[in-house]
Amino acid sequence: MEQFTEMLHLMPQWYWNLTVFVFGSIVGSFLNVVIYRLPLGQSIITPRSACPKCGHKITALENIPLISYILLGGKCSGCKTAISPIYPFVELLTALLFLATYFKHKQQLNFYAFFADLSFVAACICLIFIDYRHMILPDAITLRGTIVAILIRLFIPNPTAATASFFGIQFSALIVLTYLLFLAVEKFDYGVVRLAAYLLLLMITGGWLLMSMLYLEQYLDLQVTFLILWENYLGSRAWALSLANGLIGCTIGAGLLLALRQIYFVLRGIEGMGLGDVKMMLMVGFYLGWQLTIATLVIASLLGTILALAMFLQTGREVLKAKVPFGVFLGMAAIILTLYGQQILEWYFNNLISVRQ
Ligand SMILES: [Zn+2]
Repeated sequence: MEQFTEMLHLMPQWYWNLTVFVFGSIVGSFLNVVIYRLPLGQSIITPRSACPKCGHKITALENIPLISYILLGGKCSGCKTAISPIYPFVELLTALLFLATYFKHKQQLNFYAFFADLSFVAACICLIFIDYRHMILPDAITLRGTIVAILIRLFIPNPTAATASFFGIQFSALIVLTYLLFLAVEKFDYGVVRLAAYLLLLMITGGWLLMSMLYLEQYLDLQVTFLILWENYLGSRAWALSLANGLIGCTIGAGLLLALRQIYFVLRGIEGMGLGDVKMMLMVGFYLGWQLTIATLVIASLLGTILALAMFLQTGREVLKAKVPFGVFLGMAAIILTLYGQQILEWYFNNLISVRQ
C-alpha cells in the first residue's frame, strides 16, 4: 500500500481534499436519484431527471451538484417551483462524509479499504433518507448490501476484528442457520405443508440434540477437533477472523432487533418495527464486526431517545403513538462508527481500565 500513500505526495493536500469533496457531491447527486426513485419502484438509470411539477427535463448545466441549486436560486427553471432543500443537503452531506472518510484513511491509504468505507457510508445515507421519507428500508439496499459486505470482508479484513471466540462463532452459526430454516418454513403458505416443514425442522434440531447427548464423547471430540483447527489454522487468518466477526456481528445486531420485535409483538399484539431494521443490521453487523455493531445499537438508541424526549417536550403524549423510523438512527450511528469507531473503542477500553485501577 506504500505506493498509494506516496502517490498522495505528488499533489498538494488541498488538491486531494477538493477532489474527494467534488467526488462526494457527484455521488451525493446520484444518491438523490436512488433515494427518490427506489421506493417508487422506478429505474435509477433512465429516464433523465425531470421536475415533478412541470416535467421540465433537467439539463446537464442544471445538474451540477450544489452549484446548480445555488445558481437556480432553489427553483425549477421551467415553472419556478421551489426545489426541496433535501437535494443539495444530501449532496453536501455526502461530500463532507466522503472527506471525513478520506481523513480517516489518508495516513495509510489502502485504496480498496477506502472505497469499501465510501460504499458503506453511501448505502447508509440512502437508507437514512429513504427511511425518513417513506418509513421503509428497501431490500435492494439492505439484503444486497449484506452480500456485498460479506464479499468485502472476505478480501478487506475488518480492522477492529482483533478477536472472535470460537464458541461465539458456533453459537452465531447455529442461530443464523435456525433462523434461515425458520424463514424457509415461513415461505410455505399452505397449512399442511407448513406443518410438515415445522415437523421436519423440529426433527432436525431434536435429532441433533439427541445425537449430541447419546454420543457425547464423540461429539466433544468433534468439538475439540474444530477448536484445534480454529486455533491453529483459521483463527490466525485475517479473512477467517474478519468473516467470523461479521457473522457474530450480524447475529447480535439482527438477532437483538428480531427478539425485541417478537417481544413487542407478544406484549402489544402489533408490529412495533418492521423487518427492514433487522435486515439493515445484517449488513451493518457484517461490515462493522460485533464490537462496533453493539456500539451501533447503543448510539442509535441514545440518538433515538434524545429525539423522542425533545419531541415529547414539544408535542406531549402524541409522540408515544408516532412510528419511529429507527433506520435513520441506525444509519447515523453506523456512519459515526465507520469513521471514528476505532477511536471510540480505544477511548472506551482505556477509560474502563483506568476506572478499574
Ligand atoms: Zn418545474
